[in-house]
Amino acid sequence: MNPCDLNLLARAEVRELASYNAGLSSDAVRKRFGLNRIAKLGSNENPLGPAPAVAVAMAKACSEIALYPDASCQELRDALARKLGVPGEHLVFGNGSEDLLSIISRVFLDHDDEVVTVVPSFGLHFIYPLATGAHVVGVPMTASGAFDVAAMIAAITPRTRLLMFSCPSNPVGCTLNADELQQLLDVLPAHCLLVFDEAYYEYAQHEIDYPDCLGLIQASSKPFVLLRTFSKAYSLAGLRIGYGIVSDPTLADLIDRLRTPFNVNRVAQAAAVAALADDAHLQATLEHVAGERQRMASELRVLGVDCVPSMANFLFFKTAYNAETVNQSLLRQGVILKPWREPGYTDYLRVSVGSHQDNDLFLAALANSLASLAEHSLDDQQTRSA
Ligand SMILES: *Cc1c(COP(=O)(O)O)cnc(C)c1O
Repeated sequence: MNPCDLNLLARAEVRELASYNAGLSSDAVRKRFGLNRIAKLGSNENPLGPAPAVAVAMAKACSEIALYPDASCQELRDALARKLGVPGEHLVFGNGSEDLLSIISRVFLDHDDEVVTVVPSFGLHFIYPLATGAHVVGVPMTASGAFDVAAMIAAITPRTRLLMFSCPSNPVGCTLNADELQQLLDVLPAHCLLVFDEAYYEYAQHEIDYPDCLGLIQASSKPFVLLRTFSKAYSLAGLRIGYGIVSDPTLADLIDRLRTPFNVNRVAQAAAVAALADDAHLQATLEHVAGERQRMASELRVLGVDCVPSMANFLFFKTAYNAETVNQSLLRQGVILKPWREPGYTDYLRVSVGSHQDNDLFLAALANSLASLAEHSLDDQQTRSA
């Protein structure tokens, strides 16, 4: 063993992990390229920001910051239980729902267990299970960008402990329909916990054809954790708060054993209660996003870029060029997207639906990038044939 290699101090599972692709900050891009205006469309943030009452609630919570937060998130638990119509003891809370993904992986997975998820994927659906020593089977979406339900079912084996994926899918934006979800539920074996990551629930629920996934899953009497977050439609990404709805309080109790007792801070709890109370603000977000998403998709089509219909606050699209090349060209113009890095999807990028202005900046920059890349590849062809 080379005594200088500090990597060897870590467990093998950790050494082999890829780091999470969190993307660049606006400041980093502003400095690197000397730009004033940045469109940050890489992290699915809400351009409208949180409800006005959130700042008031946060200021009040800040005056009590010397005190530990309520470890049981009681006020928020009660508010959510009322809103969702589920008993309070069926709820778990996390420092963002990604915290819950980490806890769930550590509670339910052992070395050599299997997890079934989908590809392209939300990175943490791979990273946290892999860190426990589990194997992750990523089932590719169909060529048209839909969940391949038959292949997902076929991937479940006697060793599968978790079926974990997001619906709407991040990054694709597609969803399961009621029949497909029912097919999955019907075959889900008793030894497999369903982790249904519904981070974009509010956006999807705004569309008429999104099924009542929670209702269908509850009716199945299968064990489940359904994850939601305040980061996306409620616009509290910087505070870190998410929650899970579980099928049975026993699951909540198991999850609570491995979370740090004060994982959700006082300010975040207060902000979430305030955000939940302002339905008009939420509706304004949902309408803005639905309208802009449609506009962006049709403008992309004009550029010759197709994307799969999305029920979330982002679009996943493919160009004729490597995503990282397109990404660098967009960054130089102040536009931050998420270029995809998973094998098979490296010519795809994900763009968040931002403000009207930011979306315009993106569309103009992409038109620019594609035109100049086309010109370069034409030059290359001419050089080659000369
Ligand atoms: C954004 C996102 C999350 C993480 O949300 P946080 O609550 O901010 O941790 C979880 N799952 C998916 C699919 C997401 O896109």
